[in-house]
Amino acid sequence: MSVRVIARIRPLLKHELDKDSIVTAESSTDGDCKGRPTIVRLPNPKNPAESFSFQFNSVFEQDATQQEIFDAEISPTVKHLFNGFDLSIFAHGCTGTGKTHTMRGGKALADRGVIPRLLSAIFRRCKKIEKDSSGATQVTVRLEYFEIYCERVYDLFEPPEKRTPSGLPIRDNNRKTVVVGLTEKPCATLKDFEQLYDQANINRSTSATKLNAHSSRSHAVLGVKVTQTTETTIRVSRASCIDLAGSEDNRRTDNSTERLKESNAINSSLFTLANCVDAINSKAPRIPYRESKLTRILSLGQNGGRTIMILNLAPTRAYHLDTVSSLSFASRTKKIEVSEIENDPIYRTMAKPLAATSSIGGTTINRQ
Ligand code: ADP
Ligand code: MG
Repeated sequence: MSVRVIARIRPLLKHELDKDSIVTAESSTDGDCKGRPTIVRLPNPKNPAESFSFQFNSVFEQDATQQEIFDAEISPTVKHLFNGFDLSIFAHGCTGTGKTHTMRGGKALADRGVIPRLLSAIFRRCKKIEKDSSGATQVTVRLEYFEIYCERVYDLFEPPEKRTPSGLPIRDNNRKTVVVGLTEKPCATLKDFEQLYDQANINRSTSATKLNAHSSRSHAVLGVKVTQTTETTIRVSRASCIDLAGSEDNRRTDNSTERLKESNAINSSLFTLANCVDAINSKAPRIPYRESKLTRILSLGQNGGRTIMILNLAPTRAYHLDTVSSLSFASRTKKIEVSEIENDPIYRTMAKPLAATSSIGGTTINRQ
């Protein structure tokens, strides 16, 4: 199954209201894709008489609401998570295009992004499963949250002053990538989640750039581990939600040395991501996953389960070149084949008590 790639064009912001929207959505004419648009069209930056078009699984226009996106794209995947498949959702695009808005969103109920809505749907299903089984199946949710900043992994549940400057190590453990020493927080309600998530987001590295006063310069990965326990089995699956750092071109950001170091790390991990995508698409014998922490962790095309990429786009000319490069990156990503690997239940007669795990993109049960 290929990676599902959807594009979301954000509306004009207050200071852009006098600008033209040069990025538009269109419905396909081939008759297969009635309903939602699937094509993004924009002018060729080198020849305005020409336009480029890119086809995706789905395109959300400027007026699309948070709820619409969640209902159409994310909600249908929740049942797969409970059937034992992993889920990866990531937001890609340059700074200021709406990645954090899409993933995290605002405080008002209608503004909530994919992540709080996903958690809410997970908790609802947990309750239903426990109720339908009259308590015979118990479901627990645990969270981990880390950022990759300048190729170092930092636990976002730890305050910045407690960070080891060199970051946490990553290890391969069978077919899983594991961050060693990551905090895992039990989380029983949406309220618990909001508290943990808000505090952790304060820890996230942000710094000002010319493009966006609060631009995020790190990749943030939230892992939601769902464990279903019956008398005889334990089944663990995981949802990974990734808010990628901005993919903009350094030349436009007027960077200082420190900023340039950040930008280089961001660009090189996104570049490796693009190279992995190309290698997978062309069925190359070697996929350069190991060349960045991000690609080791995402393990695109090899981690099983479902992958959804949300490509965030700004509609104005100020983003034109970056928009073209994001679009061509995303249309390559669409071709990745992801094999679905079910996380088999573990039979309890074999399993000892659960210990904290930090596996990414799959299930690991540590035995003590
Ligand atoms: P990124 O994380 O990609 O840098 P943000 O999510 O911070 O971008 O979005 C940049 C600005 O645009 C923010 O002020 C955000 O509130 C606003 N924004 C983004 N997407 C939307 C949207 N769909 N509707 C309304 N405002 C949006
Ligand atoms: Mg952001």
